[in-house]
Amino acid sequence: MKSVILSIGDELVLGQSLDTNSAYLAARLVALGIGVLYHQTVADDQAAIAIAIEQAAAAADLVLITGGLGPTDDDLTRQALAQAMDVPLVLDVTSVGKIEAFFQRRGRVMPEKNRVQALHPQGSEMLDNHAGTAPGIRAKLGRATIVVVPGVPKEMMALYDHHIAPMLDGVGPQRGVILTTKVNTFGLGESDVAERLGVLMDRRRNPLVGTTVSGGVVAVRVRSEFPMLDQAQREMDDTLDQVENALGAFVYGRDEASLSQALLDLCKQQRRTLTTAESCTGGLVGAMITDTPGSSANYLGGWVAYANAFKHDQLSVPGEILERYGAVSRETALALAQGAIERSGADLALSVTGIAGPDGGTLENPVGLVWFGLAAAPHQPGGNVTAQAWAGRLGSDRETIRDRAAKTALQIARFHLLGQPIEQIVWLTK
Ligand code: AMP
Ligand code: MG
Repeated sequence: MKSVILSIGDELVLGQSLDTNSAYLAARLVALGIGVLYHQTVADDQAAIAIAIEQAAAAADLVLITGGLGPTDDDLTRQALAQAMDVPLVLDVTSVGKIEAFFQRRGRVMPEKNRVQALHPQGSEMLDNHAGTAPGIRAKLGRATIVVVPGVPKEMMALYDHHIAPMLDGVGPQRGVILTTKVNTFGLGESDVAERLGVLMDRRRNPLVGTTVSGGVVAVRVRSEFPMLDQAQREMDDTLDQVENALGAFVYGRDEASLSQALLDLCKQQRRTLTTAESCTGGLVGAMITDTPGSSANYLGGWVAYANAFKHDQLSVPGEILERYGAVSRETALALAQGAIERSGADLALSVTGIAGPDGGTLENPVGLVWFGLAAAPHQPGGNVTAQAWAGRLGSDRETIRDRAAKTALQIARFHLLGQPIEQIVWLTK
């Protein structure tokens, strides 16, 4: 079975917003073993949409269309579909009632404009939308099934779940199953990952192993394609084991897992609490940690210590250290972490201080230089707090530097809890 995905909207073709619907739908079709021939983005232009629909219907068995079902004059997908099918639009009385009820539940009267959303090409079927006002449409054109859903991602996803997924159930697997999984790593470059994976990345291999980089995260994508689900799953599991063995502690999770979640899971297992003292990341480490639900069980809180006086007053960083070594230095990173662990009573303190730019760099301390400190409470009562620091060179623009610094701090804490040498993170030196 072959499919085409069309996304409709001026905002998409003009580059004002990104077409995320196509990627969402394509991933789901591929997971069902349905091939995707192409994606096309078309402006809110009735003739252009009609042509795109005719071409797609000639090339594929299934055409998924998102967008252009709104109530305004620039929403023309239903008109274009009727044009391509060479049938008139007809009013669906039940849908008018449903749209009226949608507004009623919100204490409003249906604007007359919304009535157009109850129009559909003669011979097509309306698909209920519980998440918004525009029903979807299912139609046949030649041998192709065409499904139109609204562009609003939340509504598109709801209609996919309610109408498209059940329709496709059992369609794909007869032609084989495709399973995909991502293994996420942080702390290695893409070529380091490739080197460690070696022959696992052979392009003739099934499951096929490839890498992608985004935000410093190198994700290893594994795609397992076999006639039957159980074999596809077995082969997938076997390859995932090999990939994860080759990459060790750099792996922090699969698919949508986050570094923060991985760190908090370790903290939970080892019953450790965490605090942060951040300068150049301005709270980004804390924000990443608290993005994870339930983080308050192990994350106590932290400081955004930007000015030198604040570092001194709130975290007891000695003025002498700030003067002699500067705010971006091993000594300050150590003192920030030590101050934070003492003031908070946490088991582990992370500190970050660096030059995020664009100004403030020198030959000795260039933009992108970031120092990380880690202080750890003694395992036994009566022991001493230990503290270590590492430096990294993390890029040249402010956003990248801050993002990489925050993720590096989280990975440093993970490596510490796993008993792994932190200098393994390729951009860090002691
Ligand atoms: P529409 O159904 O054309 O009225 O789309 C409503 C809104 O959904 C648009 O203004 C966009 O913000 C969003 N949207 C439409 N198409 C897409 C798409 N392909 N990907 C992501 N968002 C979209
Ligand atoms: Mg639109």
